[in-house]
Parts: sequence; structure tokens; C-alpha cells
Amino acid sequence: MISSCIPVSVGANPTRLLSDERTTLSQVRQVHAYIIKTNLVTHVLSVTKLVKVLSQSSVPYDAISVFAHALSCFHDMRGIEFFVPPTLKACGKSCALEEGKQIMGFILKTHLWNDPFVTNSLVRMCLELGMVELARSVFDKMPTRDLISWNSLLSGYLKAGQIDMAREVFERMPQRDLVSCNTMIDGYGKHGLCELAEEVFMDMGVRDVVTWTSMISAFVLNHQPKKGLCLFREMLSLGVRPDAPAVVSVLSAIADLGFVEEGKWIHGYIFSNKILDNYNFIGSALINMYAKCGQIENAYHVFRSICHRRNVGDWNSMISGLAFHGLAPEAIELFQEMERAKLKPDDITFLGLLSACNHGGLMDEGQFYFETMQIKFKIVPKIQHYGCIVDLLGRSGCLEQALEVIHNMPFEPDVLIWKAILCASMKHNNVVLGHTAALRALELAPQDSSCYVLLSNIYAKMGRWDDVSKVRSMMRKRGVRKIPGCSSILMDGKVHQFLVGKAMNVGYNQSVLSKLEEVVSKLKSEGYEPDLNEVFLDIEECEKESQLILHSEKLALAFGLSSIPEGVPIHIVKNLRICSDCHTFMQLVSKIYNRQIIIRDQNRFHHFNKGCCSCRNYW
Ligand SMILES: [Zn+2]
Ligand SMILES: [Zn+2]
Repeated sequence: MISSCIPVSVGANPTRLLSDERTTLSQVRQVHAYIIKTNLVTHVLSVTKLVKVLSQSSVPYDAISVFAHALSCFHDMRGIEFFVPPTLKACGKSCALEEGKQIMGFILKTHLWNDPFVTNSLVRMCLELGMVELARSVFDKMPTRDLISWNSLLSGYLKAGQIDMAREVFERMPQRDLVSCNTMIDGYGKHGLCELAEEVFMDMGVRDVVTWTSMISAFVLNHQPKKGLCLFREMLSLGVRPDAPAVVSVLSAIADLGFVEEGKWIHGYIFSNKILDNYNFIGSALINMYAKCGQIENAYHVFRSICHRRNVGDWNSMISGLAFHGLAPEAIELFQEMERAKLKPDDITFLGLLSACNHGGLMDEGQFYFETMQIKFKIVPKIQHYGCIVDLLGRSGCLEQALEVIHNMPFEPDVLIWKAILCASMKHNNVVLGHTAALRALELAPQDSSCYVLLSNIYAKMGRWDDVSKVRSMMRKRGVRKIPGCSSILMDGKVHQFLVGKAMNVGYNQSVLSKLEEVVSKLKSEGYEPDLNEVFLDIEECEKESQLILHSEKLALAFGLSSIPEGVPIHIVKNLRICSDCHTFMQLVSKIYNRQIIIRDQNRFHHFNKGCCSCRNYW
């Protein structure tokens, strides 16, 4: 619909120039000036095109100015509905709240209110400006609502973190399409409601790659990496071609599981299928996967060979990977290289660096970088950065200084900080401070079983057995269950899991236990003595010893020794932190049996070789 005031031949339409995606901002501005000079501002096609291009440019506010100018020149309202939606989009993008409200007032007074294309844009603008309530009231009053209106409101609620409202909208929708279901799966996943996400997923008749990716990410985010990996395999078997986000999600699942063979396969798959990644996330995901799977050399190889070296995310993943392996000097060296390359580190870079100093016991360097990030790079530390420093000071025995940091930081200490103090107190035999820290941790996380375990360990250390049983009964009353220690080994594509106290896989039971007995007696003949202080139970010494022997990583090790060919390192993944008795045990086995043992526990990697551990007994 073309305004009749000035007849314009299509050939004279300068906005034709704007159809090319490579149009530069200065070309857009030239067209803009030309349109005003030649009074083409009343030509609907030209104005619509110009507003659209500007609304998507880096200067979206200019679209609003063009709209206002055009409106003052128009003789009637014909064709205006074409450029109102891009103007609303521009308001959202440029946070123009007042202008947005004025255009809304204008819409309400004209025929535009009956145009669903316009009202949908209005809902989206309100959501973009963070006015969720207003978006809802526009939505409720709209004369006609279509699927786009429902989907916009749904994603608006999810973006605003209002999961209950989103759920209400999703359940009330007269019909749903792929977009609605994919949005809801993603939303449920991000809000920890994995089961609900799975329900939506199972109910869907048609799924696309986004559906699969959203469900895989939901599993990964909610600590169910095994399910994420299985779903990825199912997706491949059904012939759905994964895209970059799917691959990044599954790499993260594999990293959590520590299944390096699967990771290598995906690595090859990415290259042979030329999966493109516009955001350079695959490089970081591969580095992270190799680092978490115990292959820091491969991570380094990926970092040096395939990554875009200007991407800070890749450097961050590499620094964190080195930290996880206790390679603090290497992490610091990489950071210095990053500085020489004039790349700007961010808060995640420093989190990696501080955690490297922490795992490496480098107290001076840790404090130096904590100051550097604030003074030189003007990065405000988050609570995680403070956590690293508190942990670093605490482990080094500077408990007073650690408490001072807590006292002076601008946050209330969280459960992780109290747990750091608690572990440090245990290590340095300060039961009084440990007791206070345990109580604080418990107040903050009454459902976290490890807090109860640590508190009862403190009481056990003090010999207060009555209090130990009180903590136990408190746990029972509150329905909190202790997470049992569990270690796994991947062999021939199959996961073998071992739970504390029993060899879980039936059939391995006897052979694993007799191998373990053999190892123990060999170690004892070489001077090994079980560290009974690690058993916080009021039981006889001999019973304590048999408890210790059945720690899950020892069972996994016995299985590894009898099943994995000599010369091949034994990789074990453990869900909790390794205890000091198991640590000594692994060191001795690596020496006496001349085997490399690599254990990933909750916090970091331990590479045992020739009687020593890469953590130098500091973990
Ligand atoms: Zn142990
Ligand atoms: Zn170690």
C-alpha cells in the first residue's frame, strides 16, 4: 500500500540499496538523508524498509526518529501498520521506555489495535523492556491472539525467571507448536525441573534438533550427564544431525562423566561432519572435556591447534583445566602469555587463575592475582573469588587471615565458604572453629548431606559420640540422605561402578575383593598402615580397618589392576573427595605395582606415579 501524496516510481526507491545484508551503517545514513531531502518520508515502502534496517542496526534509536518524522508528514494512516512493528522492536532494543509507551498509547487509539502483527510486536516490546506485567495486560486485552502471542508471553516469563507463570501459560495454550515445547523444555531445564522437561519431551510427536539439544542440556544442567549422553546417542541413531549447541552440551556431559573415548569420538565427528560453530564454543568445550577426562596434553593440543586464539573463552578453559590438574605454574604462564597478546581477561579467567594458585598451594601468587584483578583490571571480585582466597589461606593454615577476609568481604559468606573453613579447621586440628563453621554451613544448606557428615566428623574427632548420634538422627528426621562414595572406571565402552562398602557389579564381587586383599597384604608388607583417623565411627579398630578397605576408589582400583592391561594407566572418577588413606594407598600402589593411576575426585585430578601424586599431598 503506497501513500498517494507523492507518486514514486519503484526505480527511484533508494531503499533498494538496503536489501543487501552487507550494507554499512554509513550507506544506511546516506539513504536516510536522501529520503528526507526528497520527501520520500511519506512513501510507505521506503520508510518501512529504512525503519526495519535501522531497528536491526547498532543505532536502533534512529528508527524511532524516522517513525516520528514520518508520522508528522503522513496525511492519512494507510500503510502505517507496516512500520509500527519494527519501530516497537527498536524501542525494545534501545531501552526507549517512554517512546515505547507513547507508541502504545497511539496504537490503542487507532485501528492498529486490531492488527495481531502490531499487538504481538507490542507484547514483545514490553517483555524486552522488562515490563512483564504490562505485557500480560496487553496480552489479556488483545482482540485476537495467535500462537505467536502465546509463545512470546511464554518466553517472556521464562526470561524473567517466572517459571510458575510460564507453566500456567504453557498449560493454558489452545495449541502448541515446536517453538512452544522447545521453549518450555529449555525453561524447565534451567529452573532445575528436569522431570517436567522430560514429560514435555516425551509427549512431543515431532521433534527437531533444538528439541533434542534442549533436553540434553536440561540433563547436563541438572547433573544427569549419563542421561544426556544416552539421549545424544538416540538422536544420532534416529538420523537427527546435531548442531553446534548439541555438540557443546554433550561434550559437557562427557566431561562430567570422564568418558574420554566418547569425547574423542565426538571430536572426530565434529570435524568429519563439519559442524560449524559461529560462537567458538566448541573449542572451549573440547578443551574442557579433555581436561576433565584427565588428558591435559590433548586439551593443550586442541588449544594450540584448532582454536581461534582471540577467543577469551578458550584461554579461560585452558587455564581452568591446568588448575584442575594442579599445574599452577603452567596456568600462570598461560595468563602471562594472554597479557602479552593484549587479550582482556575477565572474571572467569581470574577464577581459573586463583583456583590454580589454590590447588598448587601458591599463597603469595594467589593474593597477588586477587589484587591484580581489582587494581589493574578493575574487575569486582564475586563471592567465588573470595571463596578461592579463603580456601587458599585456610588450607595453608592461615585461619585467622581467612576469617578476616570473610569479615571484610561485601557478601554474606555462603555454604561453600563455611565448608572451606570447616575443611581447613579439620586439617589444622582446630575443632572449635570447625564446629562453628559446620553449624553455619548447616544453617545455610539444611538439605546438604555433606554438612551433616562434616559436623558429625568434628564431634567424632572431639570424642563426643552422643552428639554424633544426635546429628545422625537429625539427618533422618529431616529426610537428608548421605551421598554414598561411588567410583567408576570405563573399560571397553562400558562403565563399571563401585559403591562404598560393596562391589556393585554382580559377578565382580569375589574377584575384586580377593584382588583387593592381595594388594592390601602386599602393601602392608611394604609398611602400609591404614589411617584409622579417617573413620569417624565409634567402632572397634579392626572394624574401622575393614570399613576403610571398602572405600569405592580402592574397589575400583582392584578391578582396574586385574582387568586393565599392564602399562595402561588406570583412570578412576570419584563423586566425592578422596580421603587421605586412599590417597596414601594409591601412591603406594603406583610405586609397588609400577602403574600410573589417575583419579578425578570432586575437586581435582590426582596423577599417581612412582609413589608420588601430582597434588604433592596438598588437596
Ligand atoms: Zn578413602
Ligand atoms: Zn593427590
